[in-house]
Amino acid sequence: MGFSNDLADEATSGRAIVSVRDLVQHGFALPAQAQVLERVAQDFRLRITPEMLEAATSAGVARQFVPSADELLVRPEDMADPIGDDVHAPVPGLTHRYPDRAILHVTKTCEVYCRFCFRRETVGDTGHLPPDALDRALNHIAATPAIWEVILTGGDPLVLSPRRIADLLRRLEAIAHVQVVRLHTRVPVVAPQRINDALLAALDSRLAVWVVVHTNHADELTPNAAAALQRLVRAGIPLLSQSVLLRGVNDNVAALEDLFRALIRLRVKPYYLHHCDMARGAGHFRTTIAQGQALMAALRGRLSGTCLPTYVLDIPGGHGKVPIGPGYVQADGAAWVVTDPQGKQHTYTDPST
Ligand code: SF4
Repeated sequence: MGFSNDLADEATSGRAIVSVRDLVQHGFALPAQAQVLERVAQDFRLRITPEMLEAATSAGVARQFVPSADELLVRPEDMADPIGDDVHAPVPGLTHRYPDRAILHVTKTCEVYCRFCFRRETVGDTGHLPPDALDRALNHIAATPAIWEVILTGGDPLVLSPRRIADLLRRLEAIAHVQVVRLHTRVPVVAPQRINDALLAALDSRLAVWVVVHTNHADELTPNAAAALQRLVRAGIPLLSQSVLLRGVNDNVAALEDLFRALIRLRVKPYYLHHCDMARGAGHFRTTIAQGQALMAALRGRLSGTCLPTYVLDIPGGHGKVPIGPGYVQADGAAWVVTDPQGKQHTYTDPST
């Protein structure tokens, strides 16, 4: 299979916002801000799909996608690879952090570029994983019988054409010990037209295919997004969600409650609420751990267990993901002691202001 350098969504690229000039034209920036925003966009590409452009009348949506001069402020705690993808990469394009699962980075392209992205140093190109790198990654998976689950991510795996997705699934199906494929994607929400019959046919597999949808605000769940999620549900694909706790987007009880209730109504189980990672230039999105814990405590009194995700921390540096709570994350004066899945302890310090 060859992954060529095609663009994310030829079908909609004519109407997407892709430049600072577009931002100004649509009233998301003043002409006087253009120069500084050009510097921001050079560091990390800008793209807002037509679906999110419509939804961006909501401040909780716009803040996620509209670049800001705050991104030029790099704090001491910021990291180029906050969750340690590269620390656990046996071959390029593959992260093998836990024995039973591996992450395959099939592309560096996304439909939108989220300004807080934890992979903002590596995503934003138009290239997919080259064929030789894909071969090596699949060879590693085939040679490692402990790998039971393969997580397709990127970038966003659903920017690949249905033909490419089908080819990749056929190759994974041929590896007997692989039983589960999980796709981590923002596409059903930000580019719902991609969830079409051809894609659903491509996802029909002997493997258990799960889709984990990234969404952070109820206002992203437009009627088109809801319809796309329902198409996946009707195709028999189980849906989970992951969200990021983001200052100025969803860091209040009402916003999170609306989001989780909306997801359950759409038959999407809220799975993880991520504490915002230490991505470079994303400090203005971070809350403190104590703020996140207070929000989760307030939600627990209002929502059923089905609506509540697990609040998690990806330990900076690639030490794994843990629930934020007793046994894993303990207050230690002004800092936190975090115990990783192997029992090793790390110190976490809340964002500097
Ligand atoms: S869709 Fe995911 S990988 Fe792409 S910019 Fe957003 S958070 Fe990053």
